[in-house]
Amino acid sequence: MTLAPPETLALDDRFARELPELALAWQAEETPDPRLLVLNEPLAVELGIDPAALRTEAGLGLLTGTRPPAGATPVAQVYAGHQFGGFSPRLGDGRALLLGELTTPDGRLLDLHLKGSGRTPLARGGDGLAAVGPMLREHVISEAMHALGIPTTRSLAVVATGRQVRRETLLPGAVLARVASSHLRVGSFQYAAASGDVDLTRRLADHAIARHHPAAAEADQPYLAFFESVVAAQARLVARWMLVGFIHGVMNTDNMTISGETIDYGPCAFLEGFDPATVYSSIDHGGRYAYGNQPVVAEWNLARFAEALLPLLHDDEQQAVALAVESLESFRPAYAAAWSAGMRAKLGLPDGLDDAVAAPLVEELTALMQSGKVDLTSFFRALGRAARGDAEPARGLVLDLPAFDAWLERWRALGPDGDAMDRVNPVYVPRNHLVEEALAAGTAGDLAPLTDLLEAVTAPYDERPGLERYAAPAPGDFGETYQTFCGT
Ligand code: AMP
Ligand code: MG
Repeated sequence: MTLAPPETLALDDRFARELPELALAWQAEETPDPRLLVLNEPLAVELGIDPAALRTEAGLGLLTGTRPPAGATPVAQVYAGHQFGGFSPRLGDGRALLLGELTTPDGRLLDLHLKGSGRTPLARGGDGLAAVGPMLREHVISEAMHALGIPTTRSLAVVATGRQVRRETLLPGAVLARVASSHLRVGSFQYAAASGDVDLTRRLADHAIARHHPAAAEADQPYLAFFESVVAAQARLVARWMLVGFIHGVMNTDNMTISGETIDYGPCAFLEGFDPATVYSSIDHGGRYAYGNQPVVAEWNLARFAEALLPLLHDDEQQAVALAVESLESFRPAYAAAWSAGMRAKLGLPDGLDDAVAAPLVEELTALMQSGKVDLTSFFRALGRAARGDAEPARGLVLDLPAFDAWLERWRALGPDGDAMDRVNPVYVPRNHLVEEALAAGTAGDLAPLTDLLEAVTAPYDERPGLERYAAPAPGDFGETYQTFCGT
């Protein structure tokens, strides 16, 4: 396989050509002193780009967008969105650019996209920039999600720009180079719908079907099948989040993809003590995007998506609504099925087990975890040991021991497979105190803690000696007071 140098990388502009109403041709801002902070070499190879060349001046020019390859047409994408429930008709890439679409050596079409590359016409009041810390956060968390097997955008690199960014204090600026199967969002459809141009909505849907849900094109009602396919993909995705304790933090409709990938790692965090009310985001006062509310919000967002698609579903609006409502009803069972299949796997239970046996076990365990605010990640790993005979580590994590012992007895009688459990229950997730430590050091110029954290979380199921601190919950009351910040 030949790896392309960055300056000759072939980038298509299919999105911009097919949907010019949603694309503003734009250029990245110059970077005074670009320096590579982190490069995802395996991903570069997967994309067919020479990693060594990405470290050169030409490589940094690609990764910051200041020297796009010949023939590329970088664009800012226009979209709308419900933010915390309120509709904004015109959002879009205020500080981001789609450099173009590349075809990987194994034939996949992927977006190469930048974040923090300067103000665009959609920047509204923003400065168009991003700070090193939040871009490193997206890098480490998205790569951890990928390693956990959860659909997500990927991070190719973070480059420090040499420019200062004004937040509460002056911070070093950075550009993140991100890869996604596309950046189509529920908000993209909301923008098209709000424009009143049904032909635009149709072209956008056709583009999305071709890219992500090709089977829908063969259905009797392709647009309804498309909607149902997105509903199913989001139900599976959010169930995966819930099973590992991922809290997205800002599930606005502009942050929900049509592909079913996790996108936009802002105030996201991993849950430690199990509590559905957990919120880490400093701006989420009402708990709209709390851990336990994520399935409800996903369904709400999908209802907004359905509204945007109505003109494609039926000429008669009432009939269109009836079709959409019926299709959206598939979300809850799809979510419940994905969640319970995931929980059975986490508990090492056999596939064919009767639901009448499995469901109450899962429910009781969830209640036990909640009443004891049990550390989710450690607990399931400890249960793997319990399945192999040593229940003490798990018993040490719960409060209500009589109830837990009774539960253990019933569960063990089913013969749970501890080794299978260890293949689905991670040892290492990017715990908040470790992420903060890595970002603070990275911002100050020391990337060693980030490198170490990445090493742990990119092989999350594989327990290794010497990495004990990456498996341990935050010390003291760190979790109680922890806050994450948005849009930084
Ligand atoms: P996010 O919360 O990151 O999903 O961003 C929501 C919207 O605000 C998007 O339209 C972003 O492009 C925009 N935005 C966030 N931060 C900035 C910034 N510093 N400058 C310009 N636009 C921004
Ligand atoms: Mg966003």
